[in-house]
Amino acid sequence: MKKLALHWQILLGMVLGVLVGLIMTQFDGGSEIVRDWIKPFGTIFINSLKLIAVPLILASLIKGVSDLKDISKLSKMGGRTIGIYLITTVIAVSIGLFLVNIIKPGNSISEQTRQELVQNYSGDTDKYKEEAFKQKESGPLQALVDIVPENIFGAAGENKNMLQVIFFAIFFGIGLILIPEKKSKPVKKFFDGFNEVILKMIDLIMLAAPFGVFALLAALVVESPSIDLFKALIWYAFTVILGLALMIAFYNVMVLLIAKKSPSYFFKGISPAQLLAFSTSSSAATLPVTMERVTEHLGVDEEVSSFVLPIGATINMDGTSLYQAVAAVFIAQAFGMDLSLGVQLGIIVTATLASIGSAAVPGAGMVMLVIVLAQAGIPEAGLALIFAIDRPLDMCRTTVNVTGDATVSMIVAKSLDKLHEPKVKDWDDHYKD
Ligand code: ASP
Repeated sequence: MKKLALHWQILLGMVLGVLVGLIMTQFDGGSEIVRDWIKPFGTIFINSLKLIAVPLILASLIKGVSDLKDISKLSKMGGRTIGIYLITTVIAVSIGLFLVNIIKPGNSISEQTRQELVQNYSGDTDKYKEEAFKQKESGPLQALVDIVPENIFGAAGENKNMLQVIFFAIFFGIGLILIPEKKSKPVKKFFDGFNEVILKMIDLIMLAAPFGVFALLAALVVESPSIDLFKALIWYAFTVILGLALMIAFYNVMVLLIAKKSPSYFFKGISPAQLLAFSTSSSAATLPVTMERVTEHLGVDEEVSSFVLPIGATINMDGTSLYQAVAAVFIAQAFGMDLSLGVQLGIIVTATLASIGSAAVPGAGMVMLVIVLAQAGIPEAGLALIFAIDRPLDMCRTTVNVTGDATVSMIVAKSLDKLHEPKVKDWDDHYKD
């Protein structure tokens, strides 16, 4: 019998997870069973993905940079990558602002619902505010200072320091380019082999993906808040999701026009990473799979993907920035505030920066939203309004974040003549060997 393609297996896992979650909530003690006996497998799956992230960045980025052979190539690729990332983020925020001003979801929230939501969730949002203000209180150049670690082992010991690990890997790669070939060769060979091992480990982890997402979604369903509050926020959620769908359409147009690849080719290649982003709500946890899919199935040269994707996972969050713009204006509308054009333009800047600063982990976009709100003078108590529905939206925006990174990697690769025929066409075979 022909084996089901991986993306179908993952989808099946997701659907079954939701069903089992729904069924278990109907029984007394059912939720506990899911929490105690199913959720841990989801956690193990996410942990095994996160486990790969730091070694993967180190190995692939060092190999990628040193393969470039000269520094001018690196600065060309770096400039292009950052430039295109910024452009896509600004486009995302603009789409979000446009939609939220047209649909005006905040106007449909009744006074009673607003109070109910604020009451229910104000406790939860306090810790978000604290976290965001910690980041805000530091000086204007703190973000730059934070990129340079004082100890690489310390940096590599915390997944949230990914940008520091990236900094070290690029720096190390540059060093490797500059020393005589005789000396650099064995080091490069080592990282080459190391990289291969990591890629194989990702393949192995992906075999468990359908079971992992099953467990994650079953746990999510039993732990989600009541459906009534969701209903109150339906227009807000609709606005965010419509915006995110437009971004996906935009990526497809870009891939078609610039990389000259069809949407079905793109989806086939990237969908397992998208499904994983949706299930885990974390671009960082998805990174190993994004890298593998983009390199092996979308034909992006490793030299490009190993550079563009780790950076993208940490700084390019189009879905997050779009969500932050919609959420900020939605909250303002719900509180009856009229935002001037100037304030809305300010939101473009702060949402872009806040999305760059958001960590690639679940819920990070909401933490950084506090900064967008503060800057625009919108009441932070409004966070409580959107809390109930944040997780499902997080799942959707993370999917867009990951798709955006993959798109940009294809565009950068094309512009450098590094987009090839993919190594693996029949991806089932790939996972079989
Ligand atoms: N969960 C998102 C990500 O990892 C960040 C966010 O909360 O928007 O990409």
